[in-house]
Amino acid sequence: EHLANQIAAGEVVERPASVLKELIENAVDAGATTVDVTAEDGGLTLLRIVDNGRGIEPDDLRTAFQRHATSKISSGKDLFQIVTLGFRGEALPSIAAVAKVRCVSSIDDSGLGRAIEIEGGAIKKEEDAAATRGTDMTVRELFFNTPARLKYMRTVQTELGHLSDVMYRQALSRPDIAFTFSHNGSTLLRTTGNGDLRQVVAAIYGTAAAKAMVEVKSEHLDYSLTGLTAMPLETRSNRNAITILVNGRYVRSPAVVQPMLQAYHTLLPINRFPLSVLNLRMHPTLVDVNVHPAKLEVRFSKETELRAFIEEAVRKALGEQTY
Ligand code: ADP
Ligand code: MG
Repeated sequence: EHLANQIAAGEVVERPASVLKELIENAVDAGATTVDVTAEDGGLTLLRIVDNGRGIEPDDLRTAFQRHATSKISSGKDLFQIVTLGFRGEALPSIAAVAKVRCVSSIDDSGLGRAIEIEGGAIKKEEDAAATRGTDMTVRELFFNTPARLKYMRTVQTELGHLSDVMYRQALSRPDIAFTFSHNGSTLLRTTGNGDLRQVVAAIYGTAAAKAMVEVKSEHLDYSLTGLTAMPLETRSNRNAITILVNGRYVRSPAVVQPMLQAYHTLLPINRFPLSVLNLRMHPTLVDVNVHPAKLEVRFSKETELRAFIEEAVRKALGEQTY
């Protein structure tokens, strides 16, 4: 069981940013409207995620950290109809296998909840605890028991860069959730949760960038595309400038990015990428998100049709502007 968890951990937990991603997804799944993240030393010393979601039932706390105990997949068919972000029931056991975790959770406003402490997969303590509604997850000393993995960690600055990428993506995908992110005592991101995507863009990329973006809004029988995309002035030299969400989930997808860039064709200098946040929605049966365990890649069933739709939608958004 411990070994299985450590092996699974290798798949799920590559670096602090992968822990952060899984824990934020859990908070979002739990219906949180505020998610507060604290990190120290690029997340290697400490990562803490506090949410005000529905919490974990006291009797379920231990099970949440057991492998596959909570998998939401009951048949092969379900793989094609994944609606919630988490679906493998592997994150918590994998994280707890390679770190020192304390989780305090409460399902109501009684002021009481339950706490569990796990180190390297072994339960150290479980007790009642004072808690506000929601879940407070502290992950310390990541990879303390897997020195080979620890050795591969880069500088604090590099790991912080990956943490920030995850924070930005999560904040951009959920403007309706108030996120905060602080690292070694300084606040790096604060969003209001008022639902305004442009304000989230402003918090991350600055007000000038946010102002220079135009709205994308197109619908089709099978798809809808909404979001913001930059006029040709607000470009970056890095593909990271482009955030693609499919049914609310951040993905890497040439099938979306390529037609989008095609729409810019002559407008864009070579090797420049427009700052953009695009949210593509479609029926879950039209997309397979289970291509990769990290859930970043997707496969579309009507890709040609989709590409044409995206190019047209972005063209329309840009065309409606006067230069
Ligand atoms: P998955 O998200 O794939 O179900 P995880 O290992 O990430 O698996 O989490 C296990 C379970 O623990 C979740 O299904 C959920 O029921 C519960 N859980 C984890 N984190 C939270 C949270 N922040 N709030 C409420 N419940 C949570
Ligand atoms: Mg999860």
